[in-house]
Amino acid sequence: MERNDYLIRATAASGALRAFALQTTELTNEAQWRHGLFPVASAALGRTMAVALVMGSMLKGPEHLTVQIQSEGPLQGLVVSTDSVGNVRGYVRNPRVQLPLNNKGKLAVGDGLHPGTLHVIRDMGLKGPYQGSVALQTGEVGDDFAYYFAVSEQTPSVVSIGTLVNPDGSVRKSGGYVIQLLPEAEPALVDRLEERIPHVPPVTTLLDSGKSPEAILHLVLGDLDLKIQETRPVQYHCPCSLERFRDGLVTLGREELETLVREEEQLELVCHFCQEKYYVSRDDVQELLDELTNRSAGDIEG
Ligand SMILES: [Zn+2]
Repeated sequence: MERNDYLIRATAASGALRAFALQTTELTNEAQWRHGLFPVASAALGRTMAVALVMGSMLKGPEHLTVQIQSEGPLQGLVVSTDSVGNVRGYVRNPRVQLPLNNKGKLAVGDGLHPGTLHVIRDMGLKGPYQGSVALQTGEVGDDFAYYFAVSEQTPSVVSIGTLVNPDGSVRKSGGYVIQLLPEAEPALVDRLEERIPHVPPVTTLLDSGKSPEAILHLVLGDLDLKIQETRPVQYHCPCSLERFRDGLVTLGREELETLVREEEQLELVCHFCQEKYYVSRDDVQELLDELTNRSAGDIEG
């Protein structure tokens, strides 16, 4: 498959602004076909994956980040996981929801997710996980992350993210931009941004007209000493494997494994994140059970 998805990181206004722009059309399309997402679900997951990738680009080394939206809306929430090198994966709990367009004629992501809670869990290795949570403001995702950045990370941000879906359900465009004000930003700069942003065309219009991430940032921040620092590919990637699933089975415990050996010829395990299927035979489960027995015998001797 062609790989056109990427993210750029930039600074502007002598470092008082941090800016990100990205296109995620292909990875959102991959999520769409892997999960059979209906349009509202594609938009909800596409927007969330885009912001998660922006947050992931600020992580280091082995750190990773999980975004969880718990929702009482018909989509029932979603989960997105990303790392520091541009890999992302995710799923929607109820991906086959049909909702009428909202009063702006757009996919009704807010109606699909609101009310609910946005959780961000950052796993920073030795330092232990950090978690921040805010109530969903509108459920439109961009608004909710802007609120999260302001409240949970004290970073005022513009979050403008969109996902467009074709009539056949495939993803036409996905991406957008995030601008963050750093503590050294002068109040005058805040005024300038607030005055300018409403004049920038909606992000879906920019994406649909084929504007690249660079072109989008130039449009929004071009006269503010914009400096592009980094360009990196981003992609849908799930690190699941048969081995990981086998290891996961051990955590079920002896009793559950014994029941499986008795009752199941073969187990079919499906990865939530990518829908890949794995098969574990009765012999394999028996082997796990034997390993477990040997291990606990060892414990007693030791
Ligand atoms: Zn997987």
